[in-house]
Amino acid sequence: SADHLSPAEKEYDKALRPLDFSDFTGQAKVVDNLKVFVGAAIMRGEALDHVLLHGPPGLGKTTLSHIIANSLGSSIKITSGPVLDKPSDLAGLLTNLEKNDVLFIDEIHRLNPIVEEYLYSAMEDYKIDIMLDSGPNARSVQISLNPFTLIGATTRSGLLTSPLRARFGINARLEYYDSKLLTSIVQRSAEILGSPIYEDAAFEIARRSRGTPRIANNLLRRTRDFAQIKGDGTITVEIAQFALNALDVDHNGLDEMDKRILMTIIDKFKGGPVGLSTIATACGDEAETIEEVYEPFLIQEGYIKRTSRGREATEAAYRHLGKIPPNHVR
Ligand code: ATP
Repeated sequence: SADHLSPAEKEYDKALRPLDFSDFTGQAKVVDNLKVFVGAAIMRGEALDHVLLHGPPGLGKTTLSHIIANSLGSSIKITSGPVLDKPSDLAGLLTNLEKNDVLFIDEIHRLNPIVEEYLYSAMEDYKIDIMLDSGPNARSVQISLNPFTLIGATTRSGLLTSPLRARFGINARLEYYDSKLLTSIVQRSAEILGSPIYEDAAFEIARRSRGTPRIANNLLRRTRDFAQIKGDGTITVEIAQFALNALDVDHNGLDEMDKRILMTIIDKFKGGPVGLSTIATACGDEAETIEEVYEPFLIQEGYIKRTSRGREATEAAYRHLGKIPPNHVR
């Protein structure tokens, strides 16, 4: 979500956000399936089945949810797990939904269990029970909701309870973007911003964006500043490299935590194999976060191997940190 962004960043985010499926780059399988499900729901005049979107942050869960709502011709209401404190918060949102609207709940794994249970009947039968009065007059009445689609987004699908998970008819996992896809995202964003960019410069930004469109767009934004001040506004590969180095962006896009994980495996555990929870304790983070947010990228890029005995650093990991790989990993 964009909750943590400054107003200027929010504006920027909004300007670059794709509005329909044809604008959305990558995630081809997810997008193709969603188009079918959305098309079929429209033909039947029904609400789209509930959708669970999971995957690491910044890959487009919020963007896709807006696109789904736009394609359905529906409105979208946006909230997040931690914000929904009590059932009445949720009831307020649900009772205001029009037929076939979308309710987007970000960080759905962080729902309060009481609120979550309340959601079950809403998802299943479009009905909720609300309490009227309190004390001796308290009674609960059931009210019907308009048919709606819940879209839940989570970076931590492993933390979803099984009753909640079972209530989503559509389950889609977003993957990291390869450099080629990210290059086209950077080119598209630069065009919207009116910043000329060479393809090799777009590729340089893409390559160093940790497979993540949000990071690519942020790096483009800063690179554009350097192009304006140090050059004539055109983003060349030299400007891009200069900017990215000045911003301390790792040359393969790893972030601080990625590097800490690799360093821990190599320095504290002789390169592994070492168990996930041991790594987590040593890095000061939760095992689930490492498993769902950091590790997928490190595995995809070939820095970590998952074996039956634990995680192992690869030769690429040693080399990336400027260390000499021991013989057994070469
Ligand atoms: P989080 O989980 O942190 O909320 P998210 O997965 O919801 O992140 P978004 O907010 O949808 O990610 O996307 C981040 C930014 O990246 C958006 O502003 C959007 O412009 C851009 N973006 C994401 N996916 C794509 C894409 N496939 N094509 C073009 N731009 C994209």
